[in-house]
Amino acid sequence: MMRTHATIGILALQGAFDLHRQALDRLGVPHRLVKTADDLGQVAALIIPGGESTTMRWFFQTEGLTAEMARFVRTQPVMGTCAGMILLADRIADDLVNHGFAAIDIDVRRNAYGRQVHSHTGEGMVDLGAGPRLFPMVFIRAPRIERVGEGVRVLGHRNGEPTMVANDHVLALSFHPELSGSDEVHRFFVETFVESRRQHHQPDIALTTHTTGGN
Ligand code: GLN
Repeated sequence: MMRTHATIGILALQGAFDLHRQALDRLGVPHRLVKTADDLGQVAALIIPGGESTTMRWFFQTEGLTAEMARFVRTQPVMGTCAGMILLADRIADDLVNHGFAAIDIDVRRNAYGRQVHSHTGEGMVDLGAGPRLFPMVFIRAPRIERVGEGVRVLGHRNGEPTMVANDHVLALSFHPELSGSDEVHRFFVETFVESRRQHHQPDIALTTHTTGGN
């Protein structure tokens, strides 16, 4: 079990959210399915699963979640996989809407590797903090990362193309880590993006306590 107290939200409007829930269950990480703005207000971080980015965007509108999502993903720790990565991107090719929430400075192209029949699995290289190594990558109608902006780190790649990128609060992947047979990417997200950030913010809590005590 991981030592964490932060509740991680898993966007559950559509798509492959249940496998992310199972991964967090195995890691012993508190989580909550997010379907409404109220749910989003209860979580410290968010996983946006794969699925269909156009459908998810439609749900954001019908559920009145668009503004809350935009605010959340620009400041809080977020992991977006496949459709989730598309929604977080700066610019999107092959879509009626050509910009995402701009939570991370990347340009992506939807369905860049062909349609469903062209979904594929292969090994790529990832660095989850302990140096580069091989990692299984499952691509399903995957987007391609076509541009990586300044300050965005490439943490995974395959065939010379980035497949996992990050800035200070966003981890974005074109493949499906929940189908890799390993919970390592989820563990990495929780440890590196959620927990270390919480510890970083501890002085604020101490300061608040001190101030309150002085009143
Ligand atoms: N092609 C999908 C989209 O454009 C993404 C596919 C996936 O998430 N597996 O949203």
